[in-house]
Amino acid sequence: MKIVIVGNGIAGIFTAQNIRALDKEVELDIYSQEPYPYYWRIKTPELIPGKIKIKDLIVYNEDWYTNNRIDSYLGKKIVEIKPSEKELIIESGKEPVSYDKLVLALGSIPNIPSSIKNAVSMVGKGVFTLRSIDDALNIREYIKGNEVKRAIIIGGGLLGLELARQIKDCNLDTTVVEFFPRLLPRQLDTECGEMLKAEIEKMGIKVVLGAETEEILINGEVEGIKLKDGRIFKSEIVLIQAGIRPTIDIAKDAGINTNRGIVVNQFLETSMEDIFALGDCIEYNNQIYGIIPACVEQSKILASYILGKEKIKYSGTTPKNTLKIVGINLTSIGQINPPEEESGAWEILRKADKKDCCYQKIVLKDNKLKGAILFGESKNLSFVSQNMNKEINKDMMKELLELYIWRCPSCGWEYDETEMEVLFKDLAADFKCVGCGGSKDEFIKN
Ligand SMILES: Cc1cc2nc3c(=O)[nH]c(=O)nc-3n(C[C@H](O)[C@H](O)[C@H](O)COP(=O)(O)OP(=O)(O)OC[C@H]3O[C@@H](n4cnc5c(N)ncnc54)[C@H](O)[C@@H]3O)c2cc1C
Repeated sequence: MKIVIVGNGIAGIFTAQNIRALDKEVELDIYSQEPYPYYWRIKTPELIPGKIKIKDLIVYNEDWYTNNRIDSYLGKKIVEIKPSEKELIIESGKEPVSYDKLVLALGSIPNIPSSIKNAVSMVGKGVFTLRSIDDALNIREYIKGNEVKRAIIIGGGLLGLELARQIKDCNLDTTVVEFFPRLLPRQLDTECGEMLKAEIEKMGIKVVLGAETEEILINGEVEGIKLKDGRIFKSEIVLIQAGIRPTIDIAKDAGINTNRGIVVNQFLETSMEDIFALGDCIEYNNQIYGIIPACVEQSKILASYILGKEKIKYSGTTPKNTLKIVGINLTSIGQINPPEEESGAWEILRKADKKDCCYQKIVLKDNKLKGAILFGESKNLSFVSQNMNKEINKDMMKELLELYIWRCPSCGWEYDETEMEVLFKDLAADFKCVGCGGSKDEFIKN
């Protein structure tokens, strides 16, 4: 049997690796339009200020492919799938490539909002997105060659902020512009968003929220951006990090069912026989994941299924995101803002320690751990990660968060930190007991 994988990112590579672990004989070919062997995509922003070199990003060199008996075809773009012939066409290739089973691990591309005037036409000429090694090198070269002093990053999500940090390290005046009224709109709530904004600003990065970009201003070269409300921000480079779009083109052209992504079922089968898909390019249950844990989980399921071994059903991946900026400790997992229509069944344990810049939010439903924001300290991260969707003891969780009930010895009135906006230590020194007017100093920690 010959399995052909298109895509050499983590989804494609982990599938190949898992298949080889289960079957030493099966023929395995992997195609990628990028010329590099498997590399850490997530570290590509660090190429821009020159903190690392391409060789530092390569995870598996050519020997790895040879040792695992995987034939790699790098720098080869697949332009057509012919499902009825079970063949692939390579760009400027002479012979079609045959397959018995085909795995599409095509990844995604950065989204460029079509509503932003001049954005698409200026790509590569002062407007950039970042997805690959080559993108990072192009940004670096442009900054060096065009006397760039100011940069605007459109998008205050994880990738936008991580990119802003690296751009700042190129000694550029750096501004992040975010459409939503808070940073990391999908990973944070309002309160933590404000705390994060303050930390980002301490790094010298400017943040503009609730800002819809209408136009890239150009005068031969990029001059800045104009917002819908008329405000203008000047810069010589604009970087767009406004979400991703799954790569679906060759699947769609081949008649495979696609929506926003390539539609797959719980065994990662597409609508076409013997064609499977995983990673950033898929849509499962109306959801696009765009995160590494989803690729890893799916690659195990697919490897086993494609070889006719154990049939494990995929049921989605809990979103988990960590902001990779030195000096900021932030992870967001699962459901962090309970849906309003179901508010009764949900419970929240929250510790907002603004003085120490620490915010811990635990979201429970029917005593099961459904989500968390851990900002400022990560000591509870492994507990939370291991217990997602499991029943947990609420008192133990309070202990882990170091949330306490403070009792007034005179009247017994209690200040329960899990339910209050402010930690007891952050209350004003002249705070008086609500029950009897006793002083703050007399309270006893339970
Ligand atoms: C800067 C950055 C930081 C990130 N940080 C994190 C993080 O901290 N945590 C996290 O979970 N996720 C992070 N992500 C997202 C994560 O990198 C992706 O979820 C993951 O790389 C997806 O893997 P994939 O294999 O599905 O796709 P990709 O890694 O995109 O690989 C797809 C490959 O397929 C190739 N390809 C596409 N079409 C064709 C074709 N027609 N012919 C041949 N080859 C083709 C592409 O060139 C590419 O090499 C980050 C992403 C970026 C860009």
